Amino acid sequence: MRTIKATLVAYDLDARSPEWTELSARIAATGARLFHVFGDGKPSPFSVERDKEARFTVELETACLFDDQWNTGPMSTPTGESNGHRVFDWYRDHAWTERGRAVGHYLELPESAHAARRDTLKCAYCGVYYGAIHPDHRAIPADGMCNACLGSEYLKRADWPLLRLRSVGSMWAKREPLTEAETETLAAVIGPAFKAAQKALRVRQVAKARAAIERKRGQQETERAGMLWLLDHGFLPECAIYYSHRGVFVFDWREKMDAHERSALLDVVSEFPYEYEFKGGNAAAREPVTP
Ligand SMILES: [Zn+2]
Repeated sequence: MRTIKATLVAYDLDARSPEWTELSARIAATGARLFHVFGDGKPSPFSVERDKEARFTVELETACLFDDQWNTGPMSTPTGESNGHRVFDWYRDHAWTERGRAVGHYLELPESAHAARRDTLKCAYCGVYYGAIHPDHRAIPADGMCNACLGSEYLKRADWPLLRLRSVGSMWAKREPLTEAETETLAAVIGPAFKAAQKALRVRQVAKARAAIERKRGQQETERAGMLWLLDHGFLPECAIYYSHRGVFVFDWREKMDAHERSALLDVVSEFPYEYEFKGGNAAAREPVTP
């Protein structure tokens, strides 16, 4: 089940009105958690007239599940077409609260949405989802422990309890410490996987460092050869600077060359065997030279 159809109800009410008192009590009674923050200042895609409520049908994505919010699929709203929106079980824009208005939205979730949160498990360390709700989610392992992050080179022993899979809807409830048996099971799997991951990490680090050294050496050799070419052709190295990060020589970088020297350089620079440019433009911008 990739998406779940639900109803989003947008509201814009007087925060002191009996309508708001009644509505907020009704939403709170559903157990929805209030997400009460400053909005992003953009016009809401779910517009509603003042002192009214408005209903929108939304398709909630199940690929990434959260305990108080959802991503919608692509949809058209009064503000136009979009690839999707982040919607909340219960949302109130604090900027309007300060002005005495209750502006936001809440979701009327079907049972399938609550079931998706209940039946989808998540690893609190790596965030991978488990369950049969979405086709991309992994099958729930028999031991109830995440098997996606076992080979992480960063997985410390203190993180192990985070691997015990939890319903998306109860991710933040207090975590019990691992039992001895669970610790032993994880140690048997994670110990060798961690060592292998550390070894692989070191191999990557060494390869990266080696590549950086070789790259630096290549840059130094290019700079040396370019500068020697200039000396061999009667120019001092000061007429150029080598930008190793771009791999390019820049001539007249201090803009101090006189017209004669610049012209002499332009006469031979086409044979310069490396990438180059002139400050403030390329060699095509030749200045007229009077002998
Ligand atoms: Zn994990």
